[in-house]
Amino acid sequence: MGKVDYVRRPMPKQEPLERVRNFDEVALGYTAEAAQEEASRCLACKKPGCVDGCPVGIDIPGFVGLVADGDFAAGIRTLKEKNALPAVCGRVCPQEGQCEKECLLGKKGDAVAIGRLERYVADWEAEQGTPQAPPSPATNGKRVAVVGSGPAGLTVAADLALLGYTVTIFEALHEAGGVLTYGIPEFRLPKSIVRREVQYVESLGVDLRLDYIVGKTRTVDRLVGEFDAVFVGAGAGLPWFLGIPGENLNGVYSANEYLTRCNLMRGYRFPAWDTPLKRASRVAVFGGGNVAMDSARTALRLGADQVTILYRRTRAQMPAWAEEIDAAEEERIVLQPLVAPVEIVHDAAGKLVGVKCRPMTLGDYDSSGRRRPVAGRNADFVVECDQVIAAIGQWLDSAPLFDGIDVETTKKGWLKTDKDGRTSADWIFAGGDAVTGPASVVGAIGAGEKAAVSIDARLTGSNHAFWRRDVAVDTAFDPDADPEETPRAGVPVVAANVRVGSFDEVELSWAAEVAVAEARRCLRCDYGKTCAETEVNR
Ligand code: FAD
Ligand code: SF4
Repeated sequence: MGKVDYVRRPMPKQEPLERVRNFDEVALGYTAEAAQEEASRCLACKKPGCVDGCPVGIDIPGFVGLVADGDFAAGIRTLKEKNALPAVCGRVCPQEGQCEKECLLGKKGDAVAIGRLERYVADWEAEQGTPQAPPSPATNGKRVAVVGSGPAGLTVAADLALLGYTVTIFEALHEAGGVLTYGIPEFRLPKSIVRREVQYVESLGVDLRLDYIVGKTRTVDRLVGEFDAVFVGAGAGLPWFLGIPGENLNGVYSANEYLTRCNLMRGYRFPAWDTPLKRASRVAVFGGGNVAMDSARTALRLGADQVTILYRRTRAQMPAWAEEIDAAEEERIVLQPLVAPVEIVHDAAGKLVGVKCRPMTLGDYDSSGRRRPVAGRNADFVVECDQVIAAIGQWLDSAPLFDGIDVETTKKGWLKTDKDGRTSADWIFAGGDAVTGPASVVGAIGAGEKAAVSIDARLTGSNHAFWRRDVAVDTAFDPDADPEETPRAGVPVVAANVRVGSFDEVELSWAAEVAVAEARRCLRCDYGKTCAETEVNR
């Protein structure tokens, strides 16, 4: 093994001042050379922390090694064994908090850019033509209905199709993809990429029915008879509002409506596309999560001169990922923490002119473990604006889905399941945001995979999920190899005849060489071969 390379290859991006005036993707992607160089940094740990950190357990050293060798076709095949949406995940998964957080290289330098490599091989495959679907297995004669075509629904459908099930997805909207299509903006996740991965799922034999609202067109109980099991991946698509005066004014949007008009209905191309989206020069966004950042960055691209994010806690407490907050600030979006909107104000003609804000301060800790924002002593003030976007959370109304079927929900209204996606009705399964509340794409993918395995077990009594075969995991410690025994270093002590005459410490410290030799006796069972064969621990 050569010298360890701790420095990550940078991702080329559009410059902030250029990108705020277009909807093109901000990150531009690696070249083949950069991808191979980056992949070559991987140490191929025998016990790879990155795999443990991946919610869907991708064989990361396997696919990264193939990229390093330039075998991109085998790399994408390895990825797709566990994830039907690699181009999406390579763009929007929070890898820094998952697989990359566990990467050994990250302990001393930059973790391998696993997400960027995932994106590279998925895009490489698309450049070669239509993504390859594995050969269809023989049908097992069982039918499964999936409600919702977000990442949870697409995953459960793909995995079951690979096992020979006949799967139909019912999607309420006229395009598939869930939040990937209507929520996450084009400049972070181009819709052509989502369409490509949806087409891949269809190419596995999945039947996709659009404009089909389960609960209206047909309730879940009326799917029984035609289907042996139902998976509900309906997401969390209903917006919360603050309930403050002025929220009904013209110019106030929920983030869901605002982003849906822009992403799904292509409002940013109005009038070439039918859906209008009011363009404003000063925009205030309520909230501190990723949805608030996406709304603010979208408003900027729609031509706003000034966008202000109003958040009632501190900047450090914002739930948005650090990368998203940094990107917003780079684009000159103003973050105004510790303020609570109390009224949306209008002029004599009823036109929205600003948001009255109350300065906040931090009080005691609340049930989320964060200090609760409480009203401060300073007077209310007005942030002038002509548009407001509320991005303060979403919820699910599951009642219309189930007509007369008792499916348990949590106090907050999310569907209650066990860890494998089983609800209280034994033929109904669920996963993704509808169960957890707003979370992440890869969380929904993981839930879809688990539910597919549960549905298979429920309908056949066994587990056919070939993709769950164990990744060979090894460590440096091989009990059969009978490693050479090295005795533990003894502790030096003051001679008995000397110490009995004083209160000085009896045990002395090791010399540096002894401490190093003792530390080297550790077999590094946690990292496997990396300890012995790389320079990481020298
Ligand atoms: P969804 O993606 O919400 O899909 C549910 C689907 O079900 C929708 O298509 C909906 O139309 C359909 N549906 C609902 N009811 C019915 C019905 N009755 N009949 C038929 N169909 C129905 N996560 C990340 O990991 N990275 C990010 O960068 C990121 N950015 C985000 C940005 C925004 C603006 C938002 C809102 C979320 C973001 N998330 C992000 C979160 C992530 O997108 C979600 O956690 C994920 O999409 C949840 O997947 P899902 O399949 O459970 O539901
Ligand atoms: Fe490679 Fe090891 Fe990092 Fe995984 S943890 S990406 S195997 S260096």
